[in-house]
Amino acid sequence: MSEPRVKLADFLVGVKKLGIAGHVRPDGDCVGSCMGLYLYITENYPDIETHVYMEEPKGRFDYIKAMDKVEETVVDTDFDLFIAIDLSNAERIGVAGEEYVKAKKTLCIDHHVSNTKFGMVNHVIPTASSSCEVLYDMLEEEKISEAAATAIYTGIVHDSGVFKYENTSEHTMNIAGKLMSKGVNFPAVIDEGFYEKSYVQNQILGRALLESILLLKGKCIYSAISQSEMKFYGVTQKEMGGIVEQLRLTAGVDVAIFMYEISPMEYKVSLRSKKYVDCNVVAGYFGGGGHVRAAGCILKGTKHDVVNNLLEHIEQQLEEKDVLHNV
Ligand code: 5GP
Ligand code: MN
Repeated sequence: MSEPRVKLADFLVGVKKLGIAGHVRPDGDCVGSCMGLYLYITENYPDIETHVYMEEPKGRFDYIKAMDKVEETVVDTDFDLFIAIDLSNAERIGVAGEEYVKAKKTLCIDHHVSNTKFGMVNHVIPTASSSCEVLYDMLEEEKISEAAATAIYTGIVHDSGVFKYENTSEHTMNIAGKLMSKGVNFPAVIDEGFYEKSYVQNQILGRALLESILLLKGKCIYSAISQSEMKFYGVTQKEMGGIVEQLRLTAGVDVAIFMYEISPMEYKVSLRSKKYVDCNVVAGYFGGGGHVRAAGCILKGTKHDVVNNLLEHIEQQLEEKDVLHNV
């Protein structure tokens, strides 16, 4: 790293009241980076009044320390500094949006290629595996506790798909090694925090796989789950993670589309690809975003309308890259 290091400490000078927020429907990297930051600051800067805001995070992250300190509604005002982390655009901030805008200073720490640089200061590294990796590089290594390390390790594990996506670098692995030496219970973080599914989650995964359809000469796989199906199996929106990844793993497929209905005729779409399709470009066209290999958006219509709209862009990309010929 030849560029001068961006240090979190420099942003905390003179700060008395601090807010932290991630994105709506928080995932592992969002929870890990918000909580890693929260723990690091409260442990090393006890004089700063620090608040962390998130939508009700998944129960599966309860092993991270201080999850009971997460606030879901904003009561406090007049923040000296507000840090948005793992958040690509201001609209996705959720509960803390109003106070974020009113803070004296705002800082955005992120790794999304679709980041709109909405902070007063923006520290965005699109090549990083995760926001937790970006965060780690801003901290003093010796001041990271086991608790903060566990949160940061969680985010890296989730956004790198347990160190297997192409966003994983030697640097990612070195950081993971440093975090392990802090005493992180990594088998539990990976097994219980990432792979483990409840019985109903396995059932809905099975249903999604059974109903999946191969399209575009087998280069694309698609599946959709309706609200009535979610109700039938007793699964909530927070329990729909991991399905798109299993679809992506289908041999021969380059891109997987998974969608679930969040309100009548409105779908939360997840896109994942292996080699050719730029998911961020497809999701970005429909007002969403994310990364090249993983992105999302929300689309209205029947599931057939939604998939047809997405397929048009996916097919165009596969045509441009000559992937559909000679299949
Ligand atoms: P997922 O499919 O797991 O919801 O999201 C994959 C990636 O795309 C994550 O990095 C997530 O932050 C991003 N993403 C998902 N949905 C949206 C969206 O509606 N807008 C934007 N800007 N990013 C999204
Ligand atoms: Mn992330």
